[in-house]
Amino acid sequence: MKRNLGRLAVLVAWGTAIGLTVLDYNLWFYSCQGCSSIALSETDIPEYGFLGLTVVAALILVFLKWRRKVALDRRRCDCDALLDPNWGYCPVCGSFRQKTSA
Ligand SMILES: [Zn+2]
Repeated sequence: MKRNLGRLAVLVAWGTAIGLTVLDYNLWFYSCQGCSSIALSETDIPEYGFLGLTVVAALILVFLKWRRKVALDRRRCDCDALLDPNWGYCPVCGSFRQKTSA
């Protein structure tokens, strides 16, 4: 639980830093008359490309997390103890376990 909170704090910090950087750059570019407020709200081909890449990266991340969870679930006993793939019995509850190839 503590480890997850640490990860969440790091993710929130990264997201905030990225958001502030984008906001800062846009404000600076807007103040230098590099663009108009209409241009900031328009979505063009490069923005769609970045949005698409973000969606693809998020899907890859979800797939990798799911695959890791499935691999860990295969190694867990019904009592939630994490077992070595070569163990035939759970050392916590003593139940018989079929060996997996993982
Ligand atoms: Zn067990």
